[in-house]
Amino acid sequence: MVQILDGKITATKILEGLKQKTSTLSKKPYLAVILANDDDSSKIYVNSKEKTSNSIGFKSCVYRFDKNITQGELIKLIHELNQNPDINGVLVQLPLYSHLDENQILNLIDPKKDVDGFNPINIGKLNSNDNPYAVCCTPKGIVNLLRAYNIELAGKHAVVVGRSNIVGKPLCSLLTNEDATVTLAHSKTKNLKAITKTADILISATGTTNLITSDMVKKGAVVVDVGIVRMPNGKIKGDVDFEKVKNIASFITPVPGGVGPMTIASLMENTFELYLKQNGI
Ligand code: NAP
Repeated sequence: MVQILDGKITATKILEGLKQKTSTLSKKPYLAVILANDDDSSKIYVNSKEKTSNSIGFKSCVYRFDKNITQGELIKLIHELNQNPDINGVLVQLPLYSHLDENQILNLIDPKKDVDGFNPINIGKLNSNDNPYAVCCTPKGIVNLLRAYNIELAGKHAVVVGRSNIVGKPLCSLLTNEDATVTLAHSKTKNLKAITKTADILISATGTTNLITSDMVKKGAVVVDVGIVRMPNGKIKGDVDFEKVKNIASFITPVPGGVGPMTIASLMENTFELYLKQNGI
């Protein structure tokens, strides 16, 4: 019988713990978010980050910009936030407007305030298993969800489908640090099915609906669906053919209610952990 990896319940527990700890602090963790794009999904994500952070007693502020924002103005803001001792975490919602240079902006965030863990210093530290100031939120949320269900990673074959800088690649580093044996697949991978069939833990992060079908999954595998695709009817779907794959997997994440809530919970954990480090706690 398959078990659902319930990200909503697990994330709620994490957030309740953070709320309780925050209630004992006189100065609160403070998250600054920059939104410089016109994308509807990004606006929803940013609102949700702001709402969650306020709901657990953090302080937050969102800088929303229209398309007239210049690279120079954004750089100036990042410098100000880096220097502001009240701010613990700085997050730039991606993507940025196309005229802005994302990499330059991410590189400017102080690694000690880089709450998304995308700064090259933190990515390098993650790759070297050398205590990054913060670990990218979606990979961290996935590993925390697996841990919450006591799923062993050491020695397991984890197959990650999708090689983005924000999910697939850092997830491979994190799983490697957890002693999993990791294979990374992408759109140019030949005979994907032959590879996914060997996975003890199969994680798909592509944004392609029904990419993972039941014939691609080993009996008893753990299946994690990172994909978020908004269908024309407004419903959200993932990469995995949930209804069929759930008959083969031992554990599976739903979409929505799986990885999504864990990503936000990890962002809050990161903000809290950066706060502690910056205050020498
Ligand atoms: P991305 O930057 O668009 O990368 C997609 C990756 O999937 C690429 O590496 C691409 O391969 C690969 N891919 C696409 N089609 C494929 C196919 N048919 N077979 C094998 N690989 C394929 O996406 P992302 O930012 O990582 O996001 C991936 C999905 O996760 C999206 O649906 C996104 O909305 C969702 N997401 C969810 C959360 C969450 O919290 N739940 C967080 C972040 C992202 P190539 O590199 O060869 O092009």
